[in-house]
Amino acid sequence: MRGKRGAAAAATAALPEQQAVHARLEKSARPDVLYATGVMRAYLRASLPLQSLRLLAGLLPRAPRLLATSFSLSVALQACGSAAAPVSVGAALHARALRSGFAAADLFVRTALVEMYAKAGRVDLARDAFDEAPLRDVFLCNVMLAAYVSRSEVAEARKVFDGMPMRDLVSWNTMIHGYAMRGEVGLAREIFDGTEDRDAFSWSSMISAYAKSRRSKEALELWREMHAASIIPDCITLVSVVSACSDLGALAVGAEANSWEGVAEMRKTIRRDNIQRIPGRSSIEWDEKIHEFVSGDRLHPRSKEIYRVLEEMMDRLKQAGYKPMTGLVLQDIDEQSKERSLAEHSEKLAIAFALLTTPARSTIRITKNLRACEDCHSAMKLISLVYDRKLIVRDRNRFHHFSEGQCSCKDYW
Ligand SMILES: [Zn+2]
Ligand SMILES: [Zn+2]
Repeated sequence: MRGKRGAAAAATAALPEQQAVHARLEKSARPDVLYATGVMRAYLRASLPLQSLRLLAGLLPRAPRLLATSFSLSVALQACGSAAAPVSVGAALHARALRSGFAAADLFVRTALVEMYAKAGRVDLARDAFDEAPLRDVFLCNVMLAAYVSRSEVAEARKVFDGMPMRDLVSWNTMIHGYAMRGEVGLAREIFDGTEDRDAFSWSSMISAYAKSRRSKEALELWREMHAASIIPDCITLVSVVSACSDLGALAVGAEANSWEGVAEMRKTIRRDNIQRIPGRSSIEWDEKIHEFVSGDRLHPRSKEIYRVLEEMMDRLKQAGYKPMTGLVLQDIDEQSKERSLAEHSEKLAIAFALLTTPARSTIRITKNLRACEDCHSAMKLISLVYDRKLIVRDRNRFHHFSEGQCSCKDYW
């Protein structure tokens, strides 16, 4: 995971160059397919899949060969999945893949197909694409595992897992995470114990599982074991461990004080490293366009109206009992600014936009590139109640279906 994030950061740094190539390609009468694929991939790695799709749509009429290689086709499919493009867009690419024969023959394309359908929320179509694969490697199986886990269908995931001829750390971690999210601590522990070469993700998933089930002693024990095993948590892992451990507030006193100084240390590390290297992005489809928001975003043409609705929304939520979880904000700023910063999280802006533009009582669908924070999660539960709306939110980990004040994840995510 760490490698992937590092790659995203590096890709973002290299982007100006890619954007210059993008501009040249747009002007060119016969755009170079290889360059175009390179830029599409760079956008994807920098978590900008929409840019990738825009480039594709812009060039395809002049460069029909742009989808003629299995590499470019798999990049396009990945972009569809990451951008949460309507399933019809991905299905059209699937049809193209079938015509060209790539889908059957190429594992990259096949894996991208399964992932695209899974991310579009069509785990059934993902499974069809998985079953049709002439051969399966560990990457393809991992994508199918993750698809089931993201919908909390861990029993199905387990069947795939049990049938895998070879597994890697990602397979084991996905299962630990899947069971942990459902609160099936015993099964999570079974997989955890069977995992060789555990990494920070394995440990933090298991610690969170204990913490969320209020089995604080075991969480703490495991946390100590993790230290003893010299596992250095990465930034995102740190956040989940700290938030899990903060549930164990009662233990902060007395004999455990030494360990809890460790938590204070962690918080300092998080601040120093300025963890949010990848900005959170929430997107929503409206009027046949994808509208994307980052935290504190004021770039949208209807920004003024969005913020007006946001203020109203936060007021109504407070009246209904919402309390901002300012403890989640790690910057050294005053309470009011912390509240402000939480209110302007990208998913709340996307919801305000939805409330502004969509008919009363219609379902709101949002995609978030990172894990939703606890404050947004509890706000969304309340929004579903106060505004009588269903919300379907896909975050980095899973789908959340909010309705009547509850979420389908039962607060495990
Ligand atoms: Zn949030
Ligand atoms: Zn949820």
